[in-house]
Amino acid sequence: MPATIVVGAQWGDEGKGKATDYLADRMDVCVRYQGGNNAGHTVIAEGRELKLHLIPSGILYDHVTSVISGGVVVDPRVLLAEMDELRSLGVEVSRLVVSGNAHLIMPYHLELEKVTERHLGRNALGTTKRGIGPAYADKAARIGLRVQDLFDQKIFRQKLDVVLKEKNLILTKVYNRLPLEPEGIVADYMGFAERLAPHVTDTAKLIHDQLSAGKSVLLEGAQGTMLDLDHGTYPFVTSSNPVAGHALASAGVGPHWVDAVIGVTKAYVTRVGAGPFPTEDLGQAGETMVKRGAEFGTTTGRRRRCGWFDAVLLRYAERLNGFTELILTKLDVLSGFPSVKVCTAYRVDGQIYEDAPPHQSLFHRAEPVYEELPGWREEIDGIRSFDDLPPAARKYVDRIHDLVGVATRMVSVGPAREQSLSVP
Ligand code: GDP
Repeated sequence: MPATIVVGAQWGDEGKGKATDYLADRMDVCVRYQGGNNAGHTVIAEGRELKLHLIPSGILYDHVTSVISGGVVVDPRVLLAEMDELRSLGVEVSRLVVSGNAHLIMPYHLELEKVTERHLGRNALGTTKRGIGPAYADKAARIGLRVQDLFDQKIFRQKLDVVLKEKNLILTKVYNRLPLEPEGIVADYMGFAERLAPHVTDTAKLIHDQLSAGKSVLLEGAQGTMLDLDHGTYPFVTSSNPVAGHALASAGVGPHWVDAVIGVTKAYVTRVGAGPFPTEDLGQAGETMVKRGAEFGTTTGRRRRCGWFDAVLLRYAERLNGFTELILTKLDVLSGFPSVKVCTAYRVDGQIYEDAPPHQSLFHRAEPVYEELPGWREEIDGIRSFDDLPPAARKYVDRIHDLVGVATRMVSVGPAREQSLSVP
């Protein structure tokens, strides 16, 4: 199996951490391909809970080379702290490599994101304020500093002086903040450089060489399809492209290497922050999902909005990514509901849409058309074989297959590794 892409099919937090952990066992290389330390994978392995914000979950396996590819933005301070934390838990981090092309998150990115979000007031996007959006903006504006710049102090200082001049004008004149001094930034970043040096390499070449040698590569996205900068619910999106196509651009490999695209979806839907969410349930059902699913963000602790499974959304994600199979997580959270609802279409101004409406204003006004299926009372987190699931739970999984046209490969009934049921 050459390259496999794992993509979140919803608004992120689908359990990609667990899904990639499940798949990584059979992989030689795991690559994180976009975003920054705004992701939060929670992985439970051998009884330990690990929260990974930037490093791919493959790091938990000694045989896996973990890669942060060029399309990721890296806050070196956060990366080093995460490496230290993993080390303190006994996880080997020497097999982590970072692309020299990845862009750096700089102190002014954090500062600017804080003040601009405040300035937007009630129109704020609800970003994670980790400087990720501003770092991607500078990348597009071609004024970004890259990981490789850390290893040429003269160039680093030159580039920093140019950028900082403008950033300080914005900070002081527009937002009435204090300017940032270059000396402190250079000292900090040169310290980071020394520690990161053994990990930095041409990751596109590394990935290509591994594929050419017949090794298996897992390309892991952060966030989810509905947060894609181009295909998501703009502007309530992330500042990069989680969709499968972007995995190739970021990793630097051609499409012919890919033979599987796995969509990870919850058995219901959650969303963090502002923006449209047709199946959001503001009543008791949504509350139950928050409680049973512990729906609070790994990175931010924010309460997630919850609602019923949305087949329109998943069909949209399937079309954009070309899923070859699905991983369905958190089915255990739906135990106890007398019936479970599945959104099969949207109704907007009296018209029925079976696919995502072509204009976002329609999406904002979309009302879900539900199909109601029988629920199951039993807790299923102790079940270890798909065939032992209550018939209603199996029917639910089958119905999702019918509605989306993609088969589920694994159903997850709890956060632990062993709570993963292969679907026959
Ligand atoms: P990711 O960013 O897509 O990896 O998602 P997160 O890790 O932020 O959120 C998933 C959360 O759900 C984590 O706390 C996981 O431990 C947990 N989780 C994953 N799969 C399951 C499951 O099948 N059932 C339950 N109850 N929790 C799960």
